[in-house]
Formats: sequence, C-alpha cells, structure tokens
Amino acid sequence: MLPFAGLPGGRSESRTLPPNATYYDATANARTAHSPLAGDTTADVCVVGAGFTGISAALNLAERGYRVVVLEAGTIGIGASGRNGGQIHSGQRVDQTVLEAQAGLDTAKQLWSIAEEAKAEVLARIERHAIRCEPRAGLLTAAWKKSHVPLLHADAEHLEKIYGYKKLRPLDRSETRAIVASERYHGGVLDWGGGHLHPLNYLLGLADAAVAAGAIIHEDSAVTAIENGPEARAVTANGSVKARFLVIAGDAYLGRLVPALAERLFPIKTYVVATEPLGEERAAALIRDGLAVADTKFVLDYYRIAPDTRLIFGGGETYSSGEAKNIAGIVRPPMLRVFPQLKDVAIEYAWGGHVGITLNRQPHFGRLAPNIFFAQGYSGHGVALASLAGRLITEAIAGTAERFDVMASLPVPRFPGGPMFRWPAQVFGMMLAAIRDRL
Ligand SMILES: Cc1cc2nc3c(=O)[nH]c(=O)nc-3n(C[C@H](O)[C@H](O)[C@H](O)COP(=O)(O)OP(=O)(O)OC[C@H]3O[C@@H](n4cnc5c(N)ncnc54)[C@H](O)[C@@H]3O)c2cc1C
Repeated sequence: MLPFAGLPGGRSESRTLPPNATYYDATANARTAHSPLAGDTTADVCVVGAGFTGISAALNLAERGYRVVVLEAGTIGIGASGRNGGQIHSGQRVDQTVLEAQAGLDTAKQLWSIAEEAKAEVLARIERHAIRCEPRAGLLTAAWKKSHVPLLHADAEHLEKIYGYKKLRPLDRSETRAIVASERYHGGVLDWGGGHLHPLNYLLGLADAAVAAGAIIHEDSAVTAIENGPEARAVTANGSVKARFLVIAGDAYLGRLVPALAERLFPIKTYVVATEPLGEERAAALIRDGLAVADTKFVLDYYRIAPDTRLIFGGGETYSSGEAKNIAGIVRPPMLRVFPQLKDVAIEYAWGGHVGITLNRQPHFGRLAPNIFFAQGYSGHGVALASLAGRLITEAIAGTAERFDVMASLPVPRFPGGPMFRWPAQVFGMMLAAIRDRL
C-alpha cells in the first residue's frame, strides 16, 4: 500500500471489547480519559462536542493562546468522527460546477482552495503530532451506471482545466476492473489527492494534541442548555462554563438542543462492517494498491482494506428513529452485490453512525450570535472539511472571519415541513432515490 509520503503509518493492536464495539474501538491507540465537568468555570472559548469540528477548534484556539474548555456528551469519538469510513475526499460535497453556477467562479475557487487546504490540514496534523492512524493515498470513485462515466470524466477534465488539479486519472471499465475485483463498475476516476485513514486514531491524536496545547476536555458532560449574552454559558447536569465565545460542534448528535440548527440538519443512520481478515493475497486481489473506493449511487457504498487485511465496507442507510437490530444484515447485501466472491467471509464488526446532511448537501457554517459559532452538515464529506472547520472558526474568533464567511455564505435551506413533517417528507425522498439506485 502507498502511504501518503513521509507520514507515520502505525498498525493498531486488536483487543477484546464488548459486542457493540466498532472495529476502530478494537484497534484504537491508547486513550486519555477526561473527567466530567464538575462545578462552574470560565474560559475564553467553550466548545460543545469533541468530534473533528470541536477538537480541531480546540486545538487551533489553544495554539493561539485561548483558554478552551471542550464539553463532550459521551467519550471522544462516540460521534461520526470516531466511526466513519475514514475516506478523505477532494473538494466540497457538491460539485464545483454546481458551486460555480450558484456562487460564481471566484467563490467556487475559494471553496475549492478551502477544501484543498482541508486535506493538507489532515496530513499536516498527522505529521506534526506524529498521529498513528494509517493514512493512505488514493481514492477511486467508481461509476455504478454507464451514464455516470462521462460525467465523472468531464468533471476530472474541468477540475484540471479550471482549478489546475492534476491528481485525477479517468479510468475506463477494464482499468477500473483491474483495480477493484468487481463486475459492477463501468469506469471511474482515481484521485491520488484523496485517501483514507483510521478516523478514531486520528481524532484521538488530535485530542491529545489539543490537550498538550492547553485545552481542557470534559467527557460525559452533555450540554443541556446554552445561554446567550456578552458572555455565553453552556450548562451541564453538574456544572457550567461561562465563556466569551461558544463553538457548537455537535453535528448530527446535537438533537434539538439548538432548534435553529436542527431545522437545517437531517441525521441519517449509516452503517459500516469489518470482515474477518482476508489474508494478504485475497485482500490485494480485491482492491489494488490499498486504495479506498466510493461509488456514485445516492446511497453509496464506500470501502477499503484495513492494514490487517479486513474489508471495511460502508453501505446502507435507515431513516427511522429506532436503532437497527441487525446491522450486518443491512450491510451484507450491498457488500455481496459488489463482491459476490465474499459470500463465505464472516463479518466480525458491525456498527452505525449518524451523518448530518443538509437539504442541498452544502455544509452549514454560521453564527447564532456574534460570539456563538457553529459548523455542521458536512453531508458525508467531513473527515477533511470538519478538520479544517476548527481553523476557520479560530480565525473568525481571532477577528479574521473572511474564510469562515465564505463557508457561511453557502445557502442552507430549512427542511420543509417543520419538525413534525420533515421526517416523512425526507424519508420518502430518500427512499425514492435509493430505489432509483437499483434501477
Ligand atoms: C458511518 C459514517 C461514515 C462516514 N464516512 C465518511 C467518510 O468516509 N468520509 C468523510 O469525509 N465523512 C464521512 N462521514 C461523515 C463524517 O464522519 C462527519 O462529517 C464528521 O465526523 C463530523 O464531525 P463533527 O465533529 O462535526 O461531528 P461528530 O464527530 O458527530 O461529533 C459531534 C460530537 O458532539 C457531541 N455532542 C452532541 N451534542 C452534545 C451536547 N449537547 N453536549 C456535548 N456534546 C455533544 C457528540 O457526542 C459527538 O461526540 C461518515 C459518517 C458516518 C456516521
């Protein structure tokens, strides 16, 4: 496998865990425990949520000398950042051509360069803090339908011509088949600027770096109320933090704590499995060169081989409010549609997570008050972008909001129907799109 040049690799140790543990929990680096908030305290900035958004904010702010307190409802990594596919995508979630039509070429170029910086930020942080999280270069977008191939290739040409991005390689059907041992795909585009990593270990490394820079993290400290004012206040069951600035970074796990954020975010449950180890030979024959793969379906499949030769496969979504009982049963059918040759292979880990999506799939950045910032709704594209969000928030708090405001300028509509009706309307739309994937 090709690592990103010069970065620490690291292979995590397996250990015994409860049955609902993710593969990432089972292969996590040593964790630092953080005590719950007890009593009332003050800070320059209080951050709500310890995923990539919150921890990157804490790290960047602490490095600039701000006194930062992070309040996390569970443990670090319990949200999407600790349980995702680990894939690092180029660009924003929405195609550049759409952004150009919507916001003009200059803004689209700014958004592209922010996204490029987001990938660079991930790699720079891994290197600077020597985070052992198995970063690997190469992400293949594989065309599920024949009609998707010319669109992917035209997009690659556009990115090279208008944005000078030269890391994409358009592939025909046989070239794609030579990379992925599946008959499903009609072609694709290989992005050597994308890649993948162990998301939980990356997050734990960032959190340790934030603490080393002076941030204080409290786990098991759910914020139950937020109070506005010249000094904002975040309240938990056993204490509170009064701060000049507040950063809300709860994404799809925030629930209804802030109605103005909830009405623009829809939490979808998505699922991931890790198979038993396949062995070096079988794994290498399945996906060449340790690449990550994502396809072009609406409910997409995304997968990669872990360093211990397991296939980590994400696929399938549910939209009901209850927890899925048989996650392996949800993910196995899409996995076998792509790789029928794996029907004898056991699934050893199966887990789900909540992805925060917006109606138009654009990230939702902004302020609730002059001193209360938020970033959410990366719509399945948050490994890199949420890692940069903290830096943009830090710049804004420090008085240079230009780049934060480029992100905040993206229009993110409310979900229609209000709290009562947005679920049925959204679910219906998504189910229709999922059915179209199969046609
Ligand atoms: C299964 C899955 C697969 C995915 N795959 C990919 C992928 O391959 N590539 C990609 O780019 N993106 C992927 N994503 C999306 C990506 O993981 C997210 O966009 C990103 O992690 C969001 O980071 P965050 O810090 O904003 O939110 P989170 O990581 O969800 O963190 C939010 C944190 O806030 C805490 N919180 C919430 N409410 C409160 C409260 N009231 N008080 C205190 N704390 C609170 C939560 O406990 C949580 O820890 C995937 C997501 C999922 C679920």
